[in-house]
Amino acid sequence: MPRAIVGLPASPGIVVGPVHLLRWEVPQVRQRIIADEQVGPEIARFEDVVARARTRLGQIRDRVSAHAGEEEAAIFDVQLAMLDDVELLDNVRALIHQNLGAEKAFDLVMADWRQSFARHTHQMLRERVADLTDVHIRVLSMLLGLADRDPVDLPKGSNAILVTHDLTPSLTVQLDRDAIAAIATDAGTRTSHVAILARSLGLPAVVGLRDATTQLHPGDRVILDGSLGVVVPNPTEAQIAAYAERAVRDASDDAAMRAIASAEPVTLDGVRIILRANVDLPDEAAAAAGSGAEGVGLMRTEFLAVGRATMPDEEEQFRAYQGVVCAFGNHPVVIRTFDVGGDKLPIRGYASEANPFLGWRAIRVCLDEPELFKTQLRALLRAAMFGDVRIMLPLIVTLDEVRAARRLLREASDELTARGVEHRSDVPLGVMVETPAAAIGADILAPEVAFFSIGTNDLVQYTLAVDRGNVNLAARFTPLHPSVLRLIRRTVQAGTAAGLEVAVCGEMASQPLMAFALIGLGVRQLSVGAQSVALVKRVIRGISVDVARAAADSAMLAGTAEEVEQVLRGAVRSAFGDAPFLRYGLPVKGDLDMFGDAGA
Ligand code: PEP
Ligand code: MG
Repeated sequence: MPRAIVGLPASPGIVVGPVHLLRWEVPQVRQRIIADEQVGPEIARFEDVVARARTRLGQIRDRVSAHAGEEEAAIFDVQLAMLDDVELLDNVRALIHQNLGAEKAFDLVMADWRQSFARHTHQMLRERVADLTDVHIRVLSMLLGLADRDPVDLPKGSNAILVTHDLTPSLTVQLDRDAIAAIATDAGTRTSHVAILARSLGLPAVVGLRDATTQLHPGDRVILDGSLGVVVPNPTEAQIAAYAERAVRDASDDAAMRAIASAEPVTLDGVRIILRANVDLPDEAAAAAGSGAEGVGLMRTEFLAVGRATMPDEEEQFRAYQGVVCAFGNHPVVIRTFDVGGDKLPIRGYASEANPFLGWRAIRVCLDEPELFKTQLRALLRAAMFGDVRIMLPLIVTLDEVRAARRLLREASDELTARGVEHRSDVPLGVMVETPAAAIGADILAPEVAFFSIGTNDLVQYTLAVDRGNVNLAARFTPLHPSVLRLIRRTVQAGTAAGLEVAVCGEMASQPLMAFALIGLGVRQLSVGAQSVALVKRVIRGISVDVARAAADSAMLAGTAEEVEQVLRGAVRSAFGDAPFLRYGLPVKGDLDMFGDAGA
């Protein structure tokens, strides 16, 4: 019987379909020396390929424009312009004149250009590296006569499962959701941004499969189970039937979940929890508003720029924020300022860093690029006219960052006043607690901020020194590590003592057992993906704070994440029996066995 390839569950749902294998990497090229008389024909061959690449890019541009919009399509204008660049083409011709085969000549020139763009002092040029890479891959593949590697040309209704190493922004904008039904990647983890994006797009996804691109072949029929995190190649009819049954069961569970979407998130002992939604794309706002969430606890604004050639301007951002704010009426909408950098690269092509997660990302980029930051702040202050907007700063490490951001917020407000534009100048400014420095120093930050929101994805990464996107470390990414729990408790205590609201908006909040632990640690606000709102509401309504608090107290004394998990499971079982609600949603580590046939 075919064995499942086990990865990490990233976005729920079961799909059976054919593999669409996409290799978007610069192909290897061998050096080839040509005879003098071949130089002319080789240049002609090169020019012919460039012309064909232009035609192809034009087609892709039209398709992306139709599916995703003109702004996304503009990426391809940049790439078309590169194919018209006289200097670039002349450099390649010169190398061919030196008897080098066209593919090696092109490869050398592109590698050189990419390097010098990456190091360039001009941001505009650094932003172009990703485009150069795309052009490099496309033209080189054509010169080598490799099969067309584009993800775009799938007929509608293909129900294909996109299998690729990683999902880059330029691939993301090309995804035709009428043709692609699910995503499987070698790289990534549950909290990596491909996973977050897949959940936002509502596409089932399994990430961290390590070698799916070598184990699977184009056209293979597979089952992808995004809830379990498995891909079953060439399944038997019996396996397909079993998964279909599971899909039906999941759907009826979904219906039961939806039924409680409108219920109050109150624990058995009467404690009201505030449950909000995470929104990654403005398009999701309506669905999130209908999920039973009381507002937005985290809007990840960097996704506005994913796959774009440039950052969105003030007007475009204003419209996007206004749309989300209006979808939620009077409920609070917490909008986080750009968390770019790290593994999120919407500011395209900044020179890559040796340690991106310890590098120039989030608030660091915003403070160093004040015009970019103030553009966003102005858009936010304008959108605040339409509802209860709260601004949240990512990756705060020191109080200086908060103070500098506040100065820029005041400047942004003054600029709007000078322009005579209506806005609110008193928007609450809160911070994400997602570094050990912020958690340990929460009492230092508290007097100068309006709220805390704990970003457990990064807090776990930085506390345990485990790269959240590294599939080789996925088993070491343990949110229930006692030190993580201590930092969360410390943040809750410091925040509460200063009269602040303390929320959790990382993935921990959407995992049933972890949500139980968070409530036990004193958290009274959770923000989760829209598709998890009903699940978490069910958890809240099925537990009591007293039991959760006692469980968290014992868990704090445990030595390891595994022991913490055991303590929590034991407490849940003895208080609530088999607690079936804990079986819903995406499994936490060690939960695969609870879900039956993962390794079938
Ligand atoms: C987090 O770090 O927990 C968080 C919510 O932010 P992001 O996942 O976008 O880094
Ligand atoms: Mg974060």
